[in-house]
Amino acid sequence: MRKALITGISGQDGSYLTELLLAKGYEVHGLVRRTSSTVRTRLEHLFSDPSIYNETLFLHYADIDDATTIRRLLMRIQPQEVYHLAGQSHVGASFEIPESTCEFTAMGTLRLLEVLRDLPERPRMMQISSSEIFGRPAVAPQNESTPLNPVSPYGVAKAFATHMIRVYRDSFGFFACNAICFNHESPRRGESFVTRKISLAAARIKLGLQKSLTLGNLDAQRDWGYAPEYVDAFWRILQHDTPDDYVIATGQSHTLGDFLDAAFGAVDLNWQDYVRTDPKYMRPAESHQLVGNPAHAIKTLDWHPHTKAPELAALMVEHDMAALS
Ligand code: GDP
Repeated sequence: MRKALITGISGQDGSYLTELLLAKGYEVHGLVRRTSSTVRTRLEHLFSDPSIYNETLFLHYADIDDATTIRRLLMRIQPQEVYHLAGQSHVGASFEIPESTCEFTAMGTLRLLEVLRDLPERPRMMQISSSEIFGRPAVAPQNESTPLNPVSPYGVAKAFATHMIRVYRDSFGFFACNAICFNHESPRRGESFVTRKISLAAARIKLGLQKSLTLGNLDAQRDWGYAPEYVDAFWRILQHDTPDDYVIATGQSHTLGDFLDAAFGAVDLNWQDYVRTDPKYMRPAESHQLVGNPAHAIKTLDWHPHTKAPELAALMVEHDMAALS
């Protein structure tokens, strides 16, 4: 039985990746933070299944700044594959908490690489990188060789991690890869990200539970894809013969207005009647023109992004309507 270790298993991507790997017959080990309240709603359906929890799915306490514990776990579990998804993932929040963002996202990756360096049998590993490393790119769409130009603390931290993966691959022969992911969403997306904020608001407004929706920069444009499809790319990246970096994106750029049209349209509402703006949701600096070219992943991994932003918005609203009704 193949074994995989996932850091950040309780996040959106971690939960979808866990389902994918279990379905493929893996034994899955996840690292979780020790906190007094255990809210792991995205994994609850797996915990409550006695044929899965502590049979093929195991959780271990290890903070990403605790190299000793991570080393001990890796020596004991001896996974063939490591999926490094943990980190502070909110761009807006990274302006408020830059030090801890860099501690977890940048140093967390380096620390993991250093632990792997000493293992007698080194597993293959991938890191979830981000389109935020491109920040304000000179070219669109972006691919694996687009120069990095981050404009947020999160983007800088991910740029560090992305380059460090390349250094360990080139200098120490690691099978280490970057999945340079553009925004990817789902009904499991955290509620502070704009897509989920919108899908929840559309559902709540339709059901009479909310009156309006307050957003920041309505001019934002993003390349939004569907998270379950992106975790399939992570798996494909580690099955390929050689380690490499891959842009994982849909290749389509949409405005926040497009997303609002599709989300509110799914419940027959007109978003212009409900949306307000407040500078408190604006960022000190915004990324521009982020749209990915996934040609390398399509050609090399036979990976395909199927779900595009309008369909994604509708499926998220449908989910939130069903959950709230
Ligand atoms: P990000 O691309 O990883 O930062 O994902 P987000 O979902 O947090 O933000 C996507 C875009 O939506 C950014 O350009 C934000 O500035 C913009 N945006 C506009 N209003 C909001 C809001 O109320 N919340 C968030 N999170 N983003 C907003």
